[in-house]
Amino acid sequence: MGFAILYNDAFLEHHDVSHHPECPERLEAIRDVLTESGLWSKATIVEGREATRAELAANHAPEYVDRALEHMRSAPGRFDADTFFSEGSRLASLLAAGGTVDMVASVVERTWDFGFALPRPPGHHATPTRAMGFCIFNNVAVAARAALDSGAVERVLIFDWDVHHGNGTQDAFYEDERVMYVSTHQWPFYPGSGLSEEVGHGAGQGYTMNFPFPPGAGDEEYAFVMREAILPLMQEFDPGLVLVSAGFDAHRDDLLGSMRLSDDGYAAMTGMLHVAAKQTCGGRLAFVLEGGYNVEAQALSIEAVIRTMLGRECETIEDPPRETYRKVVDRTRQQLRSRWKAIF
Ligand SMILES: [Zn+2]
Repeated sequence: MGFAILYNDAFLEHHDVSHHPECPERLEAIRDVLTESGLWSKATIVEGREATRAELAANHAPEYVDRALEHMRSAPGRFDADTFFSEGSRLASLLAAGGTVDMVASVVERTWDFGFALPRPPGHHATPTRAMGFCIFNNVAVAARAALDSGAVERVLIFDWDVHHGNGTQDAFYEDERVMYVSTHQWPFYPGSGLSEEVGHGAGQGYTMNFPFPPGAGDEEYAFVMREAILPLMQEFDPGLVLVSAGFDAHRDDLLGSMRLSDDGYAAMTGMLHVAAKQTCGGRLAFVLEGGYNVEAQALSIEAVIRTMLGRECETIEDPPRETYRKVVDRTRQQLRSRWKAIF
């Protein structure tokens, strides 16, 4: 079956008027590193297609979709201080969302063993009603919604390992028991949400799980939270599809984040997820790029993730977490204990 990478040169045409950390060079570095390593030619490169208004409006308020698409006609401009658009952004954002929808659908159908989408602009801060945090449409949420609406899957687990809390994805599914949103992130940090106590609401109560880590969390802390909470939860929730909101700004060399993850740490998390996905959902696993601002570090981490998915042995990280981080994990488990037996 092989694997697929969603990439389109049009994603490079989304850029700020002056230098911005969320820049086209990010994708160029990924492409260069993957080409050099031989992985680019091993992959099927999928260029994607534009999302339809209906696909976007299934996740975002229709008025927001229309307003955002209209607003982007007057490029260059900004949605807010952080969130720019250029002349190419309208097309890039439509291809980013539509391409992610199709890549995820193909993973669900098992056309590919796994998929890695490289959309720009990224998506996880885009809420149902607004663009923010470099994000215009929420690629991963739009794709999860489409997979559910197609009837191909009944439950989706979204694991967001970006250093920022994916407030937009959390908002989209806060009252929806079909989507389990799990996030590890630096806290306090942008955008400010993502406390242990935020666990969902209404029918979605118990279907949001946040691990707000103080700065400095490293491989052992991330491996611990995977082992102690995320993997057992996955077994019990029993998703038909696992999506990773894959930001690489928790890398120790990142320019915005203050975490300490290494390439091996990303590989270890990938290895654990891959095993669990094979046990729960026939290996239906797709990665969707979010942040990552040291262009070289994020490219090398992506190489490590893909190599792990292709079967390279990864390190098992069993060192105990530091007490501060263990407490965060315990606090979150405490919130969700009554809903999920597996995380006792
Ligand atoms: Zn981020």
